[in-house]
Formats: sequence, structure tokens, C-alpha cells
Amino acid sequence: MRRHDSDVIVIGGGLAGMVCALQLLDANRRVLLLDRDAPEHLGGLAKESFGGLLLVDTPLQRRQGLKDSPELALADWLAFGGFDAASTQAGHPCYWPRQWAEHYVNDSLEHLYHWLLARGVKFLPLPLWVERGMGAGSPQGAPRGNSVPRWHVVWGTGKGLTDALAAQLERHPRRGQLTLQFGHRVEGLITTAGAVSGCQGVVEAGGEPFEAHAPQVVIAAGGINGGDLSQARRHWHPDWGAEAPEGLLNGSHRYADGTLHRAAEAVGGQLTHLRNQWNYAGGIAHWRPRKPRHGLSLVPPRSALWLNARGERIVPPLVSGFDTRDLVTQVCAQPGGYSWQVLNRKIALKELAISGAEFNPSVRDKRMLGFVLDIALGNRWLLKEMLAHSTDVVTAGSLDELAAGMNALQGQAEVSAQTLREVVGHYDAEVAKGAASQDPQRQRIAQLRRWKGDRLRVCEAARIDDPGARPLIAIREQIISRKSLGGIQTNLSSQVLGAAGEPIAGLYAVGEAAGFGGGGMNGLRGLEGSFLGGCIYSAQRAARAMIASIPTQPLGPP
Ligand SMILES: Cc1cc2nc3c(=O)[nH]c(=O)nc-3n(C[C@H](O)[C@H](O)[C@H](O)COP(=O)(O)OP(=O)(O)OC[C@H]3O[C@@H](n4cnc5c(N)ncnc54)[C@H](O)[C@@H]3O)c2cc1C
Repeated sequence: MRRHDSDVIVIGGGLAGMVCALQLLDANRRVLLLDRDAPEHLGGLAKESFGGLLLVDTPLQRRQGLKDSPELALADWLAFGGFDAASTQAGHPCYWPRQWAEHYVNDSLEHLYHWLLARGVKFLPLPLWVERGMGAGSPQGAPRGNSVPRWHVVWGTGKGLTDALAAQLERHPRRGQLTLQFGHRVEGLITTAGAVSGCQGVVEAGGEPFEAHAPQVVIAAGGINGGDLSQARRHWHPDWGAEAPEGLLNGSHRYADGTLHRAAEAVGGQLTHLRNQWNYAGGIAHWRPRKPRHGLSLVPPRSALWLNARGERIVPPLVSGFDTRDLVTQVCAQPGGYSWQVLNRKIALKELAISGAEFNPSVRDKRMLGFVLDIALGNRWLLKEMLAHSTDVVTAGSLDELAAGMNALQGQAEVSAQTLREVVGHYDAEVAKGAASQDPQRQRIAQLRRWKGDRLRVCEAARIDDPGARPLIAIREQIISRKSLGGIQTNLSSQVLGAAGEPIAGLYAVGEAAGFGGGGMNGLRGLEGSFLGGCIYSAQRAARAMIASIPTQPLGPP
């Protein structure tokens, strides 16, 4: 039996765990960071992420003439997340999530934006406008989203973010007080006299058991939407049908299996809002999978036609960038629970993108010239790679040939060439009408293009069946799991709460494990970027509370 002792144990070396460890080192604490994964994966999902953070009223927004405020952001957040007025009352299931939302929007400028700048993180100058909401009077009755662009992308993507923090840890003057143990799978918590006092598990290589002891333990082990997907299926939201679609892909962490959620529950911690998953509709299978059912999440091209399994246009037409959850709801209601996007080479070059660091190399590797060329000339290398390797992509020289290719890929003759010709012909006629078109997709595209961040990446008027833009392309898209919006319930100090709302002594939860704060601070929908932001913010709050609760270590020179 291996034994470790420390002032604080942090379980999980993702973004939340790293931030917590950094803050604790700053305050002269000894930290033991345990992670099941290998050392090269320090940073967890954040390292793979695109690195977009929701920040409110920043100098970058003001430079673009955008007027934002915590009040406006909170109103957007509460509406989009579906918070009701009674959530201000203690005891309401969304009381803690709402408290977290309020504090996040008030603190993001100082605690996220300036905190990150001070640690060497830089942002792209133009905030992007994601999750705009479907707008008043939308057929789906969906709520408002971001009133202004707030999604601030880190120069270097999520890799740039975690690299900067990893460097801070490695070069920390108190580096000697940080012990990193990888390949350590934590399986349960240890309690002493009613307080959490450590954890136990096994070393992956060899299976040797270990115990770790400390008066304070932080769960930073991520969400429940990855692993073998059994938890994502078990907590499937009824808005998306009785069961998750058969083709569900994994877009989360391979170890996001809820082990630490169950461990928290075993010592009395409350789990809340687990059905509030944040999944995406544009999933395709990864052609170099690193985990079972490994999926990639497309940024679904706005000028593509979004069709169901039979090749019929989904109505009202789906357009990404307004309400991610609504896209999932609409696709899950279609036969087979998957969809097709039909486009052509010209649209793909301008609009096709895959979320995350892996397929955005110019931003990830901080190559400004490459980034500018990708925008100016289109993602030629990405299209080439997808056409060469993706098993979800079909190309053709005509619509009849495309329908045949779609049927061959799916192994069923579901798409009729005549239907495909009709829907494409109808849409192309709408494109030809220009600004006079009443087609909702055309109107949404015009709306998107009013913001320069989108104008750069959305075609103005692109027909699908354009002989000058061939080949025609069809992409088969599955629902892909991503974030757990719910999780372990916490108060504003990130302390895990028991059934009566009392803190469980010695136990904290941060990041996705805690639903990014409070057990689900986003509510039903996230404005995007509040995930990475919530990891940093909840970890900072946990560290501050721990430091305040045991002021035993006088701050001397390192
Ligand atoms: C491709 C992609 C793009 C994304 N883009 C964005 C974006 O632009 N903006 C945004 O806000 N969010 C984004 N996200 C989401 C965001 O990256 C995550 O929500 C966030 O990084 C979660 O961080 P975490 O530290 O809470 O958990 P994780 O990153 O999941 O880290 C948890 C750690 O705990 C370890 N662990 C798990 N179980 C155990 C165990 N039993 N014992 C020991 N260790 C364990 C894991 O190995 C892992 O290292 C994206 C995610 C992906 C995958």
C-alpha cells in the first residue's frame, strides 16, 4: 500500500485542478495532485478545447464598440439557462446555480480576464458571438441568448491556456511543495470523525493500492458525459426522447465516468441537474480515435442544408450559432436521431470547422500568417483531410450520385434522389431571391453576417447545386456528448453540500465535476465559454476558502 500525505489533495489534473493547485501553492500550501491519466495529458479536456471563455465587459469588447455589463450578461444567462424567479430563494433547486451565475458575471473581468493576462495568456482581439438565442417569437419558443459577442478565444486555443498554467506550476518558486502523481485512479474518499480526510484507489500500472491523506480534498475529476457513455445515456434528458440515439458519440473525457460523483454521494454529497447535458448535433467519428466512440464536433456550416435521415429538410431550418441545445432537440426528434448536412466545396472551404485545438492548428500553434490565410483562402487542408479520412463524408458530381452515396454510406436506401433534388432546388431558388427571401435559414445567415466575426466565416449567398463549386458534399452527423452541466452541489466556497445544505467537512468540488459551480451554474443551457471560465472560477473560490479556513502556513519567502 502506497501512502501520500499533504495539506490538500486535488483529484484531477484538468484545468480546474491546475488552477486550484496554483492558487494553493501561491499561499504556501503543500498540494498532492492525483490523476488517472498520463503526464502528457495534464490539462485534461481544456488542453483539447478551442479555448473560448465567456467574459463580460472586457477592454476587447469595448474596443469593438460593444456595450456589455454584468447586469445584461446575467439577464441573458438566466433566460438562456431557464432559471425561474423563485431561484433566488434558499432551498430552490437552482438557488446555488443562480448564486454562481451572479458571481461569475460580476467577477469575470477581474478573476478571469485579468487573472489570465497576468499569467501570460493572450486573447484574439475579436470576441465571437455564439449562442445568440433563437429570438423573440421563434417557432420553438426558445429564449434569448448572448445579447452581444462575449466568447473570448485564447491565442493558442485551450492548449495555450493549459500550457501557460502548466509553466506557472513548473516554474513556481514553491514547486517543491507540489507532488504530481499520474496513473493514480481514485476510487473512493476516506473519512475520519465525520470529515473527509483523504482518498484511496489504485495505481493503474500494476494495480498497487494507495491511500492519500490530507485535511482538505478537492474533487476536480470532470463530468460524467464521457467514459463508456453509460452515464450520458442513463441521465438522458426527456426533451431528447426516451433514450439517447444509438449513434451517440463521445466528445468528453475517457475517464469522465462519474466515479468521484459516486464517491461524493457516498459521504453524503448531493448530486444535482445531471440531466442537463450540453451535447452537440454535428458529431462525426474521429478517424484517429483515442477512446471508444471518439467523436469530433463540427461547427456546422451555416450555408449547408440540414436534412434528416430521409433527405428531407428539417423544419424549421437548423442553423448553428443560436441555440445548441435546440439543434440537439430537433435532431433527436428526427427518424434515427441523426442528420445530414449537404453542401459543396465552396461552402466547406469558408465555413467548415471542427471544434477544439486538434483541428485548428494555426491558432493552436500561434501562427498568425497561417490563421489569416485560413480565413482568406479557406480551410483547404481540413477539407482535404476530411475527404481523405472521414467515414461520414460523401462527395459526388450530381445530386443523384450524392443520394446514392448517402444510401451506400448508411447501408439503407432511405434518401430518395428526387427528394434531394426538390429540397436543394427549393433552397437554391431562395438563395437567388437575395434579401427578399423569406426562408428562415437565409434570414439567420443575414443576421449572422451583421457581426464581422461571422461575416468572415459565413458565405453571403451560396447555392448548393452550383456547378462551379463542386464536388457536392454530404456529411452524416450524430449527436456527440460533451459537457455535464449538472454535478456535485457546492456553495460559493466550492464546499460540497449535504442533503440539509450543510457543507461536508473537508470536501470541495470544482470545475465540470461541480457543474462548473453550484452543481449546475449554467442551468439548462450554457452561453458557451462559461465551461472553461467556470473551471477557473470555481477552483479559485475553493482555493481561497481553503486558505482562509486553515491559516496555518505563514506566508514566508518561497
Ligand atoms: C474539443 C473540446 C472543445 C471545447 N471547447 C471549449 C471552449 O471553447 N470553451 C469552453 O468553455 N469549454 C470548452 N470545452 C469544455 C471544457 O474543455 C471542459 O468542460 C473543461 O476543460 C473541464 O475541465 P475539468 O478540469 O473540470 O475536467 P477534465 O478536463 O475532464 O479533467 C478531469 C481530470 O480528472 C481525471 N480523473 C477523472 N477520473 C479520475 C479518477 N477516478 N481518479 C483520478 N483522476 C481522475 C482525468 O484524467 C482528468 O485529467 C471543450 C471540450 C472539448 C472536448
